[in-house]
Amino acid sequence: MEKHIVIIGGGMAGLSAGIYARLNGFKATVVEMHDQPGGQCTAWDRDGYRFDHCIHWLVGTSSGTFHRIWEELGALTPATRIVDHDVFTRVVAPDGSDFLVHSNIDEWERYLLQVAPEDAQAIHRMIADMRSTSSMEQFEDAPGLRSVVDYVKAGVHMGGALLTLGKHGRQSCRAYFDELGFTNPRLKLFFDDLYADMPFSAAAFLMMLAWFSQKNAGYPIGGSLPFTQRITDRFLSLGGELRLGQRVKHILLEPKSGGGSRATGIELEDGSVIPADHVISAADAHSTIYGLLNGHFITPHIHEAFRHWATFTPLVQVCFGIDMEVPATFPTTTVIARGERIGSTELRTGFNVMNYAFDPTMAPKGKTSIILRFETPWELWKDLDGGAYQEEKKRILADATARLLKLHPEIAGHISVTDITTPKTDVRYTGVWQGAYEGFLPGPENFGKTLEMRLPGLDGFTLIGQWVFPGGGLPPAAQSGKWAIQLLCKELHQEFVTAQRATA
Ligand SMILES: Cc1cc2nc3c(=O)[nH]c(=O)nc-3n(C[C@H](O)[C@H](O)[C@H](O)COP(=O)(O)OP(=O)(O)OC[C@H]3O[C@@H](n4cnc5c(N)ncnc54)[C@H](O)[C@@H]3O)c2cc1C
Repeated sequence: MEKHIVIIGGGMAGLSAGIYARLNGFKATVVEMHDQPGGQCTAWDRDGYRFDHCIHWLVGTSSGTFHRIWEELGALTPATRIVDHDVFTRVVAPDGSDFLVHSNIDEWERYLLQVAPEDAQAIHRMIADMRSTSSMEQFEDAPGLRSVVDYVKAGVHMGGALLTLGKHGRQSCRAYFDELGFTNPRLKLFFDDLYADMPFSAAAFLMMLAWFSQKNAGYPIGGSLPFTQRITDRFLSLGGELRLGQRVKHILLEPKSGGGSRATGIELEDGSVIPADHVISAADAHSTIYGLLNGHFITPHIHEAFRHWATFTPLVQVCFGIDMEVPATFPTTTVIARGERIGSTELRTGFNVMNYAFDPTMAPKGKTSIILRFETPWELWKDLDGGAYQEEKKRILADATARLLKLHPEIAGHISVTDITTPKTDVRYTGVWQGAYEGFLPGPENFGKTLEMRLPGLDGFTLIGQWVFPGGGLPPAAQSGKWAIQLLCKELHQEFVTAQRATA
């Protein structure tokens, strides 16, 4: 008899768990509340334009542990065209001057030395720290399943990276840039004003360019929607069951003789029940722990995480369909506009403008999709509803349009479609807690820490998804799905496989 795994949530983590479950001979049912799979990895069409909500960079597009996962999930195939941008972002300062962040570390070093020869010492030190993180690689196996040899091999391979990350993991970006002490005004504006206040650990900043520099964090042409579709197709073709438009209300529990509980299935909002041998929750971790499990299995570590770890500030996304070609010399532009407003949001640093002209699937021929995004505190949105919410969207559209026209005066009279998503949109469609689109920030307080995938006192249950690993994003979400099944196979004394077994 196949054991039945029920997976709550059909985002990246849930679909990944479903695929590895099927590859390992389990019956797998993914239950998703939205009417389409993908969770936050999504996009939508408006009058011929496609507005992407997720992938602008994908770690693992060319090699390494994450690349193998994308291949195993069918997300990247030999036919998937990957674009690696030369410039990660162009930064526009309030005086109109610009500053480039090259994707390639060596090129960026040359550029920085040209801009600020007087800061050569600090530049060399920062670039050396960045370069040393290039040997960073992910473990293949789930925690608890690694051998001493795995750790020794990792230590030898990643020696330099581990030293740098160990030194700067608990340091704030502000402390790191203060230590470097750039003096050139353009560098100070970029590092001290734009980056230093990011609540990231300095190590997260140093790792930022490592994957780009190795051309291993590209953009798959087509973006989020076909990416999700390929994974969904793989799950279905392996015989997985996908139930859409069904919201899970509870995880069903049974007391175990000798103490503790066991998850035995799920109850849906309409009262129906799906029994399971094992339940995996790939839904938002906050609602899983405090809602679906009624707060019964909170560890001190999880409690501490949800109370004290910073989360990603949610985003507003303003989408523009432009009925003319707008060449994407720089696909992403970061405009510094600290303290200015878009709608009611006072911008912490500024906003980003993404021009998708490099992806022909995003707009009809001769036209262009452009997206403007800015961070906005959840506090501003949590109680905003009805007319006040609609008014705020109108104000945002007017302000964002004015800012886009300042950047691209040539598109005046050519904006043919507009569309806005707010943190409330994300929460409505995916349940993501407080709109924190990648979960916990990789800050100095949690660097190297993760949430427990298995909860003490609860058998037959695994927690996966972006919240398990601070920093979040698609690769860790997908990896958590893989690890859930690997842990289960180990428990059942069953070999874990990552490809379909050949049939006799
Ligand atoms: C604007 C934006 C840009 C991003 N850019 C990138 C990027 O460039 N690169 C990158 O790697 N990552 C990016 N991310 C982050 C990435 O999208 C997420 O980290 C990842 O998709 C999380 O996957 P997940 O499966 O953990 O969670 P989710 O995608 O949130 O999936 C959870 C799923 O569970 C479902 N669900 C929740 N509760 C229930 C319930 N009670 N019953 C049934 N179903 C339920 C939800 O509907 C959802 O489908 C971006 C995200 C956003 C929003």
